[in-house]
Amino acid sequence: DMEVAIKVVVVGNGAVGKSSMIQRYCKGIFTKDYKKTIGVDFLERQLLVNDEDVRLMLWDTAGQEEFDAITKAYYRGAQACVLVFSTTDRESFEAIGSWWEKVEIEVGDIPTVLVQNKIDLLDDTHGRMDHEEAEGLAKKLKLRFYRTSVKEDLNVNEVFKYLADKYLQR
Ligand code: GDP
Ligand code: MG
Repeated sequence: DMEVAIKVVVVGNGAVGKSSMIQRYCKGIFTKDYKKTIGVDFLERQLLVNDEDVRLMLWDTAGQEEFDAITKAYYRGAQACVLVFSTTDRESFEAIGSWWEKVEIEVGDIPTVLVQNKIDLLDDTHGRMDHEEAEGLAKKLKLRFYRTSVKEDLNVNEVFKYLADKYLQR
């Protein structure tokens, strides 16, 4: 039985929780100040999908998203994508369309999921994300939509399970 390895890119504005999500999923930890380990391009985790061994390689950015300078090497060969925005950052939601386009330009149509992170902060946010708005965007882009809290470990596994499933069904 051959093992399937899937390169997953996690994109979105800075500070939405991408690195935290990767750490959470691959190492089971959450820290307030995640610092990228220099020299490490991705973390991985194995899972079983319908009796198939799947290895997900979750590629992290080194914070270059602030400078709109994520390199082609980051996207090269990506087979699945997580588009992340934050409950507390309206701009990060408004940027999803351009992230989606960027991925499409670099790697074409790959299994992709839309994620609203930090739902543990739903109550104390001002620029609160309206549920329908986010669902509407997911519909428009024809993407599965998840709401997660990396902090509380809500729905994080589901996101990656869905992507692995979707990739295997392609
Ligand atoms: P990145 O720039 O997208 O990689 O974001 P980081 O993973 O560095 O996270 C930015 C900040 O948001 C950090 O202080 C995290 O601890 C925090 N954070 C990430 N996910 C969550 C979450 O689900 N809830 C809360 N409350 N904070 C989060
Ligand atoms: Mg980061």
